[in-house]
Amino acid sequence: MDMVEGRCRICGDSTEILRLTEFNLKLCRHCFVRFFERRVRRALEKHAMLGEGDRVALAVSGGKDSTALLFALKRLGVAMDFELRALHFHLNMGEYSDRNLEAVAAQADLAGVPLEVVRIADLGLRVQRVKGWNSCAVCGAIKRSLLNREARRMEATVVATAHTLEDVLLFSFKNLLSRKHYVPQPVLPATGGLARKVKPLVYTPERLNLVYCRLRDLPVFEDKCPEWTPRGHSLKEVFEHMEEVMPSGKLQLLLSFMEAFPGQEEEDDVPRGPCARCGEPTSRELCAICQLADWFSTRPSRPSEHTPSTCGETEIRAFQDAG
Ligand SMILES: [Zn+2]
Ligand SMILES: [Zn+2]
Repeated sequence: MDMVEGRCRICGDSTEILRLTEFNLKLCRHCFVRFFERRVRRALEKHAMLGEGDRVALAVSGGKDSTALLFALKRLGVAMDFELRALHFHLNMGEYSDRNLEAVAAQADLAGVPLEVVRIADLGLRVQRVKGWNSCAVCGAIKRSLLNREARRMEATVVATAHTLEDVLLFSFKNLLSRKHYVPQPVLPATGGLARKVKPLVYTPERLNLVYCRLRDLPVFEDKCPEWTPRGHSLKEVFEHMEEVMPSGKLQLLLSFMEAFPGQEEEDDVPRGPCARCGEPTSRELCAICQLADWFSTRPSRPSEHTPSTCGETEIRAFQDAG
């Protein structure tokens, strides 16, 4: 985050300013924070993501994206009259998950937002390779299923996730590379017992989330997940290079994808009925949580293992499941 001396385009003050090449703007600290929050609000209003009287369950990981969204939504909730709650999953990955929970609890406290915590160990689950799925995909499937059921328990009308412009762009691009013409939508309407799902940061580059956190002096959890591998993220560099050559290219490309492939859900995403065991909506006989709990109940816990050769591939699935 490079601040330089200059004149703010909005308030006109000569002070330390930040260049936003994506938007051809130079802004002072104060105006950037306002700009960011207005941008999130515009996305909420443009897609009628949430509004008066809604109760929002926001999935928080403690990272820069969900932290920025937590604090921005807290402010917007006052103006737009919705109620905000944070939801965190303790992922049963030893000390990493304990530190993560501590960080998220401190953030929620600072934001003044009630926090719900679900420990996946209590459900007989862990983040570990399963059959054809690597640990990232398992993690995504667990989070996605739990998000739905916890949202219902919290009586939330809306589930919000901090998927960014880059997340949605990468997922769309990977889909197109495998000739699947599907682009994640900013809003998935409530369907088959699932709450409405929204992605308020769908037009916001990750860099801006980090800048927002820094300028508001917000604590961000920066530890890397023990299961993280660089390979699964290498395609993102393609977009960063494009953005350098053509400022705002990422946003323009996503908007083009959205226009070219208007809203449709993937077959797998549409629940067909209740899970035969727990009654949660699912597209199969047993929901993902029940399938995974069965798998883990018959197998001992193993130290974490990576399968880098397949990570890029299965990460697609992970995002899909997180979506
Ligand atoms: Zn200014
Ligand atoms: Zn089930």
